[in-house]
Amino acid sequence: MSRAASIVPEVHKFGGASLATAEAMAHAVSIVLAHRPGPMVVVVSALAGVTDALLDIAASRGDVRGLRRKHLGVARALFTGARRKDLIRFVDEAFDELKVPRKLTPGTTDDILARGEQLSARLFAAALEQAGCPVEYVSAVDLIVTDDTFGQASADLAGTERAVRKTLGRLLARGVVTVVPGFIGATPDGQITTLGRGGSDLTATLLARALRAREVSLWKDVPGVLTADPRVVPDAHVVPQLHVREAAELAYYGAKVLHPRALIPLGKRNIAVRIRPFANPDSKGTEISQRRTLRGHPVKALSAIPAQALLTVTGNGMLGVPGIAARTFEAVHRAGVSVSLISQASSEHSICFSVPSGSAARARKSLRETFRREIDRGEIDGVEMQAGVAAIAIVGLGMAATPGIAARAFTALSDAGINVVAIAQGSSELNLSVVVDGREGAAAQRALHAAFHLQLAKG
Ligand code: ADP
Ligand code: ASP
Ligand code: MG
Repeated sequence: MSRAASIVPEVHKFGGASLATAEAMAHAVSIVLAHRPGPMVVVVSALAGVTDALLDIAASRGDVRGLRRKHLGVARALFTGARRKDLIRFVDEAFDELKVPRKLTPGTTDDILARGEQLSARLFAAALEQAGCPVEYVSAVDLIVTDDTFGQASADLAGTERAVRKTLGRLLARGVVTVVPGFIGATPDGQITTLGRGGSDLTATLLARALRAREVSLWKDVPGVLTADPRVVPDAHVVPQLHVREAAELAYYGAKVLHPRALIPLGKRNIAVRIRPFANPDSKGTEISQRRTLRGHPVKALSAIPAQALLTVTGNGMLGVPGIAARTFEAVHRAGVSVSLISQASSEHSICFSVPSGSAARARKSLRETFRREIDRGEIDGVEMQAGVAAIAIVGLGMAATPGIAARAFTALSDAGINVVAIAQGSSELNLSVVVDGREGAAAQRALHAAFHLQLAKG
């Protein structure tokens, strides 16, 4: 094996929520320096609020001048001398070039969004250089190979691995810290793509996989993964350790702290992800790994997907008729809608599932077209829609071996006067999901949080 290929770096990602000001960027630089001289790859998100601002600009209602000022402010505060001049010119050029095409496509939108990460990573690399650290900015376009699903691209793991090892291997061997913009990739023919909101987490795990890293640190504005969303459950606590499957389930079910696809590149590889507090670099945060710990805590955390609609296909004609479920989901797929949760009554009398509120009407129309004949004949009653619901997931590997979890959940909800609209349980019993009226979503999370005494950090 070549020397370059045998170097195993740490991967550190700094999230946008943490990078709000020039001081914050300087603090991130100090975290990187504290981890030197070991080999390191640094992934950087756009500064706080920048991706949202760029989306507004793409929609022609954004404030380009304000965004330019924000980046110039950071450049002026962080740098001195010739470096300062260079960076001010770099920021100015990036905004001079920023033209919104008259006809916006997902591809041109990605091109605009990519600038947030390109700018912050350039600033970050320059700040490390100014601190005397050997550093190189590497464009994500040369590393992360994706398909052409603009706005939500999937990485080609093998292609990415080849590109990453070729480009970063040599730099790591020379002891250079590489700084890579998160969130961005490119198709094999070089068109810029983005990996979906929050995608810098995924960039970090893709790089970790390719470089066989043993640890990825995701520096966030929270103390770790908490037992629930702290904006909804104020007394949520840090979970010291999560199994990869538990974390994946929480991320999939709406825990914003981790991109829903960020754990996919890890596969069965022994790579630990740490969610670490930016404000407190000495704290351990949350470890996400293949270990199974905290057996005394069958439920580790809750997460919630708000703004869902429940669609139900019901009718006697569904009894024992093969292919109804396949046709149902085919119809939803054809409408380009993704299903977040499925629950089927054992009588096969109904199939019920939730979809994002904004796409529910489209899904219902497609279902009605698919089942028009059955509806006309009265075999299927129709497609009911209940909008404005929230799906809450109760997650923990220990649930499978612990009786009474569902009973506790439903008692807590009924004691709080909250009606359960639908239930789903994964066959792995890793996740029990309840659907409630969206207006009661926050109260339901607080009631469930209290019922399971989710206070892991306090023990
Ligand atoms: P980044 O800066 O890396 O992009 P995010 O803003 O995407 O970080 O994720 C951190 C945010 O996730 C927190 O500020 C918090 O409001 C939210 N969050 C939601 N659920 C949880 C949870 N269970 N644990 C921690 N944070 C959570
Ligand atoms: N800047 C992007 C976003 O806001 C990606 C990220 O932060 O991870 O979604
Ligand atoms: Mg994020």
